[in-house]
Amino acid sequence: MKDNQKTAAAGVPRSRYAELKQMLEERRREIQAEVQGKMRGVREEGAWGGKLNEVLDAVESAEADIQEELEFSLVQMKSETLNKINDALVRLDQGSYGNCFECGDEIAPKRLRALPFAVRCKDCEEAREVAEQRERQMAARRGTSGLFLDM
Ligand SMILES: [Zn+2]
Repeated sequence: MKDNQKTAAAGVPRSRYAELKQMLEERRREIQAEVQGKMRGVREEGAWGGKLNEVLDAVESAEADIQEELEFSLVQMKSETLNKINDALVRLDQGSYGNCFECGDEIAPKRLRALPFAVRCKDCEEAREVAEQRERQMAARRGTSGLFLDM
């Protein structure tokens, strides 16, 4: 088994590639099913609402519009996620998916399962969070001293 992995083509070992591909494709199927369900729901509600609008007063039909808008933005969000998954699959084929943006190490499959669009490994992400926190603290301190200067 180990020899197989060593001779695998550059970058992603075959088993890892297959695992990540399966993970992404499963997620894509899930979201596609959700989006299709929502679209059907919106269309049915729309047809129904059309008839109802004739009898509903202005306030109630406005509420129906808001509901429809919410559903629509949800579907929009899901299709953006679908785009990201498709991008990830392309990057996986090119061998650039699942590797840390900072150090180039492989991102743990467990982490990718939880965060399919993670671009950093756990260590780099944590280091970045610590750095950001420090920056925020510095900014806060600068903000406070700025306030004093203004006074
Ligand atoms: Zn890293």
